[in-house]
Amino acid sequence: MTYDSENIFAKILRGDIPCDKVYEDDHVLAFRDIAPQAPVHILVIPKGAYMTFENFSANASAEEIVAFHRAVAKIVKDENLAEKGFRSIANSGDFGGQEVPHFHLHLLGGEKLGPMLP
Ligand code: 5GP
Repeated sequence: MTYDSENIFAKILRGDIPCDKVYEDDHVLAFRDIAPQAPVHILVIPKGAYMTFENFSANASAEEIVAFHRAVAKIVKDENLAEKGFRSIANSGDFGGQEVPHFHLHLLGGEKLGPMLP
């Protein structure tokens, strides 16, 4: 499979469509999910063209991987998610239910969440 540069997150990265941005640096963009499933629902994405979590983990540079994780930590802090807890989810591929084929980490919080799989 090759990366589809017309996927919706690629368009957000290019600025072709807007997003409610919460964080950005050279390697990472984070924005609020358009259909939030919790009071706080943020998507964290690398700027590089990586389709899935394992694709990112296998191929991204050390700098990109560190930037991604540090960004997650900063967002968790800034959104006050750490104290009461939160959930991070990365859906991958068909069986994982991934809809947008650009790696993204969901950060969900702001209330007590239900079971991991409904
Ligand atoms: P997935 O199912 O691929 O793990 O999650 C894709 C997420 O992207 C969904 O939660 C969906 O609501 C969100 N989403 C889809 N299109 C857009 C969009 O145009 N803007 C934003 N902010 N989120 C989107």
